[in-house]
Amino acid sequence: MNNSVKVGISACLLGQKVRYDGGHKLDRYLRDLLGKYVRLIPVCPEVESGMSIPREAMHLVGDAKDPRLLTITSGKDYTEVMRGWAGTKLKELEEEKLSGFIFKSKSPSSGMERVKLYNDKGRVVNNKGRGIFADMFMQHFPLIPVEDDGRLNDPMLRENFIARIFVFGRWLELLDQGLSAGRLVDFHTRHKLLVMSHSVEAYRELGRMVASPKDFNPDDLAREYITRLMSALKLYSTVKKNVNVLQHVAGYFKKNLSRDEKEELQEIIGSYAKSLVPLIVPVTLLNHYVRKYDQAYLKKQVYLNPHPAELKLRNHV
Ligand code: SF4
Repeated sequence: MNNSVKVGISACLLGQKVRYDGGHKLDRYLRDLLGKYVRLIPVCPEVESGMSIPREAMHLVGDAKDPRLLTITSGKDYTEVMRGWAGTKLKELEEEKLSGFIFKSKSPSSGMERVKLYNDKGRVVNNKGRGIFADMFMQHFPLIPVEDDGRLNDPMLRENFIARIFVFGRWLELLDQGLSAGRLVDFHTRHKLLVMSHSVEAYRELGRMVASPKDFNPDDLAREYITRLMSALKLYSTVKKNVNVLQHVAGYFKKNLSRDEKEELQEIIGSYAKSLVPLIVPVTLLNHYVRKYDQAYLKKQVYLNPHPAELKLRNHV
């Protein structure tokens, strides 16, 4: 399903020459590697809202809650132009069914956080602003995972984001097929260990949610479930949380493994706990046992099948 996962992205990050100075901000990892596994949908709020290339540079002026988008030298106000265009664009993007959005950091239109705010004298007041389009996008689509190119340089944040866009993609696929109590239970079952690696509380809470089909009101339950799931996955997976999951998985093979095999497995989990090997090492060994002993429940687990392999999930936690 990879290529059916669509992720919006600031167009300049794909190398499109749409910046105010006619340049771009190509990010090769995003275009050349992530772009192989998801469909990247470029959006340039400034050009698409009618601004020229090149154009006068802009910045945000005023309060973080309600900043104005002004050109730096002539002070021309583009706030309403940007808001008007964004309102229509967001409706169009609903049709795209995006699983994520990658914003260009620091931009007064596209930056999702830490954008500089200026006063009317042109002095920086703080960096608590958010680009006008990014802000409207995040309010319109509160569940869609978002990140910016700067934060995605951190391998842990990147891995967390990639995991979330693929989960959200599978969720959209489920909605497309038509939600039923049975399909929701199946979706939840496949994601159990992944959720556990982010939050044991959410793992229990989501389990309780899907376990009472007699109260099943598809719309309410779906909204509640996906909201809780996406917020749990935002929490970082840590070595400690992963060791807990690995031991949980190891427990499934208590009766299958010889003493030597058990010792070897514990050594490898121990090496991961001491950060001597990446998570993918114990995960690979456990997968070997999953196949060997044909463990049906574990075979389905998204956690044990980090995909696509080239994106190196389970390598950075
Ligand atoms: S940061 Fe946003 S508005 Fe600026 S050039 Fe890139 S896509 Fe366009």
